[in-house]
Amino acid sequence: MADKVILVTGGSRGIGAATARLAAQQGYAVAVNYVSNREAAESVVADIVRGGGRAIAVAGDVSREDDIIGMFSTVDRELGTLTALVNNAGILGRQSRLDEMTAERINQVLLANITGSLLCAREAVRRMSTRHGGPGGAIVNLSSMAAKLGGPGEYVDYAASKGAIDAFTIGLAKEVAAEGIRVNAVRPGLIYTDIHASGGEAGRVDRLKDAVPMKRGGTAEEVANAIMWLVSDQSSYATGTFIDVSGGR
Ligand code: NAP
Repeated sequence: MADKVILVTGGSRGIGAATARLAAQQGYAVAVNYVSNREAAESVVADIVRGGGRAIAVAGDVSREDDIIGMFSTVDRELGTLTALVNNAGILGRQSRLDEMTAERINQVLLANITGSLLCAREAVRRMSTRHGGPGGAIVNLSSMAAKLGGPGEYVDYAASKGAIDAFTIGLAKEVAAEGIRVNAVRPGLIYTDIHASGGEAGRVDRLKDAVPMKRGGTAEEVANAIMWLVSDQSSYATGTFIDVSGGR
């Protein structure tokens, strides 16, 4: 069993995959969660194993409590005591105005992004908190610059879900600060990943990049660096805090 065990939800692609790879380089045994793209998750695991690291792919939909519970049990059994959670899995719907959105779509986004992150954090606290006999640990939540910008005309529901992530980060950080757990968040800006295609505009970052003060989109690796700094002991006195990785946007 490894000393340092990390679960990255949505670790099969994009920011999560970059985080999983970086965590392995930093000596973590890595659980790479995915919901449907098993091939992508297995490819991240294969890269890590080729590099001499330890990793497993774990299927599970963060919109489903029973999947979350099963996923954490698999990590307990196969990798050992969890010491870090990256609440990275997140979705958005097709770009649209609020007056065109269905309740079903809004509920899907809120369920995956908010309830999923809360329940994964709950399972992590049950394992990490010194109150429960755990070793302490770190939780990093993926918020978004949308929490501040609001996502008008595209996805105010998604932006609202990320605003909830910000509030939850502050509250949980205070709740478990004396129990050895730090809770922080990263707010990415426009990052080159598949998420924009899932919103219906694969080229969204390139369309908007000139409005970014740094005049470019960011990479998943640039976000992963901030996430893993917050996971690491380098940030040992930081909790309830946020890093905006957005090129100044
Ligand atoms: P992405 O490229 O679309 O990848 C999404 C990942 O999440 C995939 O690994 C996917 O698994 C997984 N996933 C989706 N729904 C899931 C569910 N219900 N249960 C478990 N896993 C699920 O996304 P990304 O751009 O890397 O985004 C990662 C996080 O950063 C999200 O929280 C997102 O909101 C946030 N963020 C991204 C940007 C950006 O510009 N990219 C900006 C701000 C914030 P499969 O491979 O199995 O589908």
